[in-house]
Amino acid sequence: MGRITLDKVTKSFGAVEVIPPLDLTIEDGEFAVFVGPSGCGKSTLLRLIAGLEDVSSGQIRIDSQDATAVPPAKRGLAMVFQSYALYPHMSVRKNIAFPLKMAKMDPAEITRRVEAAASVLNLTDYLDRRPGQLSGGQRQRVAIGRSIVREPAAFLFDEPLSNLDAALRVGMRLEISELHKRLATTMIYVTHDQVEAMTMADKIVVLQAGVIEQVGSPLELYRTPRNKFVAGFIGSPT
Ligand code: ADP
Ligand code: MG
Repeated sequence: MGRITLDKVTKSFGAVEVIPPLDLTIEDGEFAVFVGPSGCGKSTLLRLIAGLEDVSSGQIRIDSQDATAVPPAKRGLAMVFQSYALYPHMSVRKNIAFPLKMAKMDPAEITRRVEAAASVLNLTDYLDRRPGQLSGGQRQRVAIGRSIVREPAAFLFDEPLSNLDAALRVGMRLEISELHKRLATTMIYVTHDQVEAMTMADKIVVLQAGVIEQVGSPLELYRTPRNKFVAGFIGSPT
């Protein structure tokens, strides 16, 4: 239950239109990657879907529901940020449970969800530690755990690995792909890194200056890039 449809969506900041009319569908359960150079509108597009920015015109639907007027907290989407702002004084368990506590969920249900999330993320043995006692990768997993417990219709990632060193990045890339397989939930992943796009995506959306240059599987884009920009970006032989 996480099909996301953008119908003639535009976004302007003042007089500057950064997203001209754009149509896009992300299927339920798909791992979609938005890729393109810095400033091409990837974050803006993700923020529009999350509801952190309002569209200037057009419609965003989640399944068949018009989400355009729905505030971010009610869209049922989880935004996973680059920096993992955990509470340093709280245990991993409490950090993961935090959004559910805020929502005044039944304590037994909170325990069930936290333990299920910890199991999926291989954090079961770390639930009583504090963030300062974890590695960077483990902290990132705790942040993801905090999203998982809300059982969102989709996860939105904005360059979540860009603060990590190269070795850790490769490991986390695999972990996020693995998590997608286990949860089978829609994920939208923003990156400017071609390798991440090619290795993680079911569907790649190549953006340039707010315009979709091409949408397709990694293999389709590699074999039949629509233009030089896509070929150059994806690294196809020319
Ligand atoms: P990306 O994430 O691909 O690097 P962004 O979505 O952050 O790109 O930005 C796309 C364009 O929109 C850029 O030209 C950026 O300067 C502009 N932009 C983004 N957010 C704002 C804002 N709040 N106000 C004005 N311009 C913005
Ligand atoms: Mg960005």
